[in-house]
Amino acid sequence: MKVGVLGAGTMGHGIAQVTAMAGHDVTLRDIEMEFVEDGIDSIEANLQGGVDRDKVTEAEKDAALDRISGTTDLEEAVGDADLVVEAVPEEMEIKHSTFGDVEELVDDDAIIASNTSSLSLTEIASALDDPSRAVGLHFFNPVHIMKLVEVVVPEQADDETVAFATEFVEDVDKVAVEVRDSPGFASSRLGVALGVEAIRMLQEGVASPRDIDAAMELGYNHPMGPIELGDVVGLDVRLDILEHLREELGERFRPPQILRQKVRAGKLGKKTGEGFYVWEDGEIVGTSGDWGDDE
Ligand code: NAD
Repeated sequence: MKVGVLGAGTMGHGIAQVTAMAGHDVTLRDIEMEFVEDGIDSIEANLQGGVDRDKVTEAEKDAALDRISGTTDLEEAVGDADLVVEAVPEEMEIKHSTFGDVEELVDDDAIIASNTSSLSLTEIASALDDPSRAVGLHFFNPVHIMKLVEVVVPEQADDETVAFATEFVEDVDKVAVEVRDSPGFASSRLGVALGVEAIRMLQEGVASPRDIDAAMELGYNHPMGPIELGDVVGLDVRLDILEHLREELGERFRPPQILRQKVRAGKLGKKTGEGFYVWEDGEIVGTSGDWGDDE
């Protein structure tokens, strides 16, 4: 199968990598050759990491890299593709123009997929003359490690499109969950619901960040507690998602005041060195504020 991947950034290069590892020919397209080359360099580094850890053989790495070509030319990327996956920036206007441009260049039976993490697939699909060929393929970061892909089904999708997308996900050795297009899909909605309740518990003084996180890590086997995860994702990102979900789904997603205050103070989590925790060199070294449980 021939697959065109649009956008060679964080997600695009990962999608190109797993697709090539599954034996498909991939053309990776970005707007500047420099970005394409950076993406291919990242793929090479990831695969070399796999070789170093004995997960990938040298021959598999070379074969996968041989199956990937890079371009800035959209027609070259999608002209003979059976599947196009876009991983361009998360803006409706860019998604719309990308989908519209792609449809003019692909064969009639090509499937056009979006890796959007939050936009409405139904709205993205509406850019197409034939929206029944559009579907969401929501990969997770880092793509070569994370097993889940949400197959997001827009209002206009037909069963064949969904079946094709699901089969592709299994083919690239991932696990598909099928979700009707709705705000936050399945993963963000549930993850954010847990995260927002944890922040409300902090606000009410129910328990400290460390104790809330330990409750979920040790009681439910979560690899990381919800407060720490918020700091890792970025509290500004969390706040944006909550605002969006509140608008779409109602007051249960209303952002707690302490989250707004953190963001106003520029305490955005791991990336700024402080959120609900204090971070140094990517590690937690304390809690922000007086919770009385720092070492
Ligand atoms: P990114 O900024 O790392 O990469 C986007 C790339 O698209 C850039 O290299 C940019 O130059 C390129 N680009 C811009 N316009 C383009 C065009 N018209 N054609 C081709 N390339 C173009 O972004 P990302 O984090 O990889 O996110 C891409 C998509 O994946 C977004 O929709 C995002 O919501 C989604 N997503 C991101 C994550 C994540 O953790 N980063 C997870 C799941 C889904």
